[in-house]
Amino acid sequence: MQTTLAERYRNTPEGDAAERILRSCVHCGFCLATCPTYQILGNELDSPRGRIYLMKQVLEGATPTAKTQLHLDRCLTCRNCETTCPSGVEYGKLLDIGRHIVEDKVGRGVAETATRAALKTGLGAPLLFNTALKLGQSVRSLMPAFLKARIPAAETAGNWPAARHTRRMLILQGCVQPGLKPNINAATARVLDRLGISLIAAPDAGCCGALAHHLNDTEAGLAAARRNIDAWLPHLDAGTEAIVMTASGCGVMVKDYGWLLRTDAAYAEKAARVSAATKDISEILTGERDALAPLSALGSRLSAKKIAYHPPCTLQHGLKLSGSVEALLTDAGFELTAVAEKHLCCGSAGTYSILQPEIAAQLKTRKLGHLQAGQPELIVTANIGCLTHLQSGSAIPVKHWVELLDERLAAS
Ligand code: SF4
Ligand code: SF4
Repeated sequence: MQTTLAERYRNTPEGDAAERILRSCVHCGFCLATCPTYQILGNELDSPRGRIYLMKQVLEGATPTAKTQLHLDRCLTCRNCETTCPSGVEYGKLLDIGRHIVEDKVGRGVAETATRAALKTGLGAPLLFNTALKLGQSVRSLMPAFLKARIPAAETAGNWPAARHTRRMLILQGCVQPGLKPNINAATARVLDRLGISLIAAPDAGCCGALAHHLNDTEAGLAAARRNIDAWLPHLDAGTEAIVMTASGCGVMVKDYGWLLRTDAAYAEKAARVSAATKDISEILTGERDALAPLSALGSRLSAKKIAYHPPCTLQHGLKLSGSVEALLTDAGFELTAVAEKHLCCGSAGTYSILQPEIAAQLKTRKLGHLQAGQPELIVTANIGCLTHLQSGSAIPVKHWVELLDERLAAS
């Protein structure tokens, strides 16, 4: 696509990246067919191609309006369009740049600014979030059904094995996951412990920064990235093999640290190293599949539990990891039901379900219809946001897939 950037964006890191991405789009429109917001709203401006045009206009010097911002806000950042695009357009990176510029120029009203600030502070600070969650859980039984559905019942984590192995990996605990579903990381630690790997946490690491980053607070997102890099590097220097992600939404962000800090002289190299060491738990366990073979044998003797799997967009479109979770679960003897429209977002998308509740609710209903069609006993997924979003509308329990694997190993 022919592009002539406005003077102020020329020869800047963002301008150069945006120009390269804009030029790679050939305007074919293939991406419209798999864009969830285009499917629901039917407006070209709520499609990838339409949003690319809007961002192109802004980068060429047009003044963005509240309408421009609305169409960019409605994007789920699911990156389904990237998977579909035959020209390899890096839409997600362009959207980050475009949203940031539009935010600077258009701003937000008082109420919206306050909501976004509360989300950043409340969800990105584990202590604050966990305190509020515990308070909510203590009065959950008295709540009306619609509110009850938004606050999951309190859960326990189970045992986290002591660090006894020479092989070690780090875990990103996450900001909301330890409070909402503490068993996910503990189950991961137990699975890895059985494979001879100890899972440890760096006390100074915290939120991956995705929350702030996607709410256009770039500096807060980068500050979180630098803090985590400082917390993890000494462990990598000491021989820790990998940084394990159990929430694919966090995994995409940490894998992007290298890109996001590419112009930071003090952190560029360190960030690239951390990104290279970062692995989703499905990648780790696929690499350990030989050691998991006894589990496969056990799985074939057990009666299969019928489950439906929802691959998060961050796993399939962001991290480009498709098929590995399904293979691991099938190895372990689970029967996976056929699920239509696997490529489509469930509507969770970080804070999207709070900021764009109507579109998010439509996508959730559509997704749950497909997941429940095969009458599974359980629904499993790989990201805490999808898990809680789907559970809020489902009578069928929704879990992280690694918890099932842990249960199967415990039964062996
Ligand atoms: S599929 Fe790719 S090249 Fe075609 S319009 Fe969409 S983003 Fe552009
Ligand atoms: S990221 Fe998702 S919602 Fe946004 S334009 Fe691409 S396909 Fe559509």
